[in-house]
Amino acid sequence: MKLKVYLAHPRGFCAGVDRAIDIVKLSLEIFGPPVYVRHEIVHNHHVVNDLRARGAIFVEDLEEIPRGAVTIFSAHGVSPAVRQEAARRSLQVIDATCPLVTKVHLEAIQFARQGFHIALIGHRHHVEVEGTMGEAPDSMTLVETLEDVEAMTVPDPTKVAVLTQTTLSLDDANHMVAALQQRFPGIRLPRSGDICYATTNRQAAVRRMAETCDLILVIGSPTSSNSNRLVEVAISQGARSLLVDDSSQIRTEMLSGVRTLGITAGASAPENVVQEVLGWLRAHFEVELEPLEVVSEEVSFTIPKELAELANQAGRRQDLVAKHTV
Ligand code: SF4
Repeated sequence: MKLKVYLAHPRGFCAGVDRAIDIVKLSLEIFGPPVYVRHEIVHNHHVVNDLRARGAIFVEDLEEIPRGAVTIFSAHGVSPAVRQEAARRSLQVIDATCPLVTKVHLEAIQFARQGFHIALIGHRHHVEVEGTMGEAPDSMTLVETLEDVEAMTVPDPTKVAVLTQTTLSLDDANHMVAALQQRFPGIRLPRSGDICYATTNRQAAVRRMAETCDLILVIGSPTSSNSNRLVEVAISQGARSLLVDDSSQIRTEMLSGVRTLGITAGASAPENVVQEVLGWLRAHFEVELEPLEVVSEEVSFTIPKELAELANQAGRRQDLVAKHTV
């Protein structure tokens, strides 16, 4: 049976995820296994399993890590309390926090220092939100819903600011910001938006695909915030959409009646899984593939300087160091 497949560009790894994964690979090369990683380095089963097989040990609590061991903080960032705990345990920390998450942390610190109370739009229990909240816990309120905005109390309604998690749906975040502006006219926004370029671009591609596709498959793990948002964006635009970790979760019945299929991948989903899904589709359908490019992305982030220097001294993986030299 014929199947027209639109392949989204951009899709998959963003610069922050690519950097975090390479930091773990480089650390394994320089220090040798095991290296400890606090939380899943990025929210994708395939990535985590691959790094685990190379010698990374993933933990949720620093207490699980032997004193002095090499410890990597995930791309989602950590609170100051976690940094202090790491110092207390004399851990050798390598920070893989995405620079765009760090930007939000710095905004939180600055607003709090200036006496603002901050509304943080985000998802409760998401590790990025926990890290950001930790920067100014007494000056921040998490708002997830319009009801939270209504219920929010602040010491001074003229001194309120708003920040957001980096991976939200742009539409949802805009609704929340509008509600906050109504409640607190004059509320301060960050100088540039907090929702990152990768989230924005992947959602734009899905919006475009939803115009023509009967079904959009989003490749990503259920724990991935930005992948879940892609499914929601597709559905909000009137398309059917499903999140799949890989081809093992696809059944031909799911594609029954589908003539045009969109394929995209969350910012933590590797390209080899996208190709594996395309292979599965080709094995079951007569696929006509068409790229759908919304915007071209050329973003790269440098790796921590100390790690690059250690790699240079050890003569290890210069390719990875060069890849992140901007
Ligand atoms: S999704 Fe955005 S904020 Fe998160 S790691 Fe990627 S670039 Fe950084």
